[in-house]
Amino acid sequence: MPKVAALIVAAGRGHRFGGEIPKQYCALYGEPVLRHTLSKFVAHPDVNATVTVIHPDDRALYNEAAAGLGVIEPVSGGPSRQESVYNGLEALANIQPDAVLIHDAARPFFTDALISDIVAALDLHVGAAPGIPVADTLKRVRDGFVETTVDRSDLWRVQTPQGFRYPEILAAHKAAAGMNLTDDAAIAEKAGFNVVMLDGVKGNTKITRAEDLDMIGLARAAQWEYRTGQGFDVHRFEPGDKVQLCGVSIDHDKALAGHSDADVGLHALTDAILGAAAAGDIGEHFPPTDPQWLGANSSIFLRYAAKLIMDMDAKIVNVDVTLICETPKVAPHRAKMRALLADLLNLEVDRVGIKATTTEKLGFTGRHEGIAAQALATIRVRAEE
Ligand code: MG
Repeated sequence: MPKVAALIVAAGRGHRFGGEIPKQYCALYGEPVLRHTLSKFVAHPDVNATVTVIHPDDRALYNEAAAGLGVIEPVSGGPSRQESVYNGLEALANIQPDAVLIHDAARPFFTDALISDIVAALDLHVGAAPGIPVADTLKRVRDGFVETTVDRSDLWRVQTPQGFRYPEILAAHKAAAGMNLTDDAAIAEKAGFNVVMLDGVKGNTKITRAEDLDMIGLARAAQWEYRTGQGFDVHRFEPGDKVQLCGVSIDHDKALAGHSDADVGLHALTDAILGAAAAGDIGEHFPPTDPQWLGANSSIFLRYAAKLIMDMDAKIVNVDVTLICETPKVAPHRAKMRALLADLLNLEVDRVGIKATTTEKLGFTGRHEGIAAQALATIRVRAEE
């Protein structure tokens, strides 16, 4: 069995990509693109060693992407792809593989069968590259106008991994220094050895342009799952001259009875958030028997629940509160309530709903005996792998 090394080129900074981090480290189905790529090579029975060429600034991203995969210490890349590959080839000298598969990290969709095909082809050939015949009609365009139609019958779009016998490609790279060629088959051409073209894999595209962001975006969404909690609370009226509702003090001909400030809206909402996290209820976290919560401002409870979500590395997506009472009127205070809750929860105002309803004079709320509140909260948490 020939000794086969995989050389993964991940040194690009993705200037064409425009993202915050280089494309090979962006998440795809919850894992960095590079990790998908590395995992396939590491697990393949034909591949004996896998090494990655990285940009030194990306060391932390690389460590995360390659954690636990058992790959060789990465190699620092050069200013061009060609120089990066050369650095990687030189680093393989102490392994002395019979063959090397050179692959772009940002192409995570290749198949195990493709690796097998390329390794098998190297029994007969010095080099092997996968490709797809060009299907679109090609035009040569000059100054914005079609000059001519290019015969596409012998044109292929080339992919990676490209496989080569190691001593030959190392020598070819040495000879091609400074030429700035964009793939290794071109280096082989310059050296004058044959590269056999194999059928590539249709989906084996490279993540390169802004349009690929849609795919990445979908992949990122798949990292999250959403959980919803509900809350319900009631406080009865007692003599007084104001009520506290969703953080706003409203003049009224009654007050709400309670151990704390009796803010029924904040209590329901706190319970909804705790419920989304399956973290018990407000009474468990803030026992009404505990004197320190006597007359407490209920925003303390809401902030506590919000912090609990943050500590889970989760995020509140939206909240929605329904206040159920005949009086006082909620509408004049709705904007202030929303702004206050948005501030307490560190959310945009358009993620905070406040609604009010009566019960058509039925039941305890209809008889002006108290106020009820219902709330929903949705949180986003990292999906388990
Ligand atoms: Mg309560």
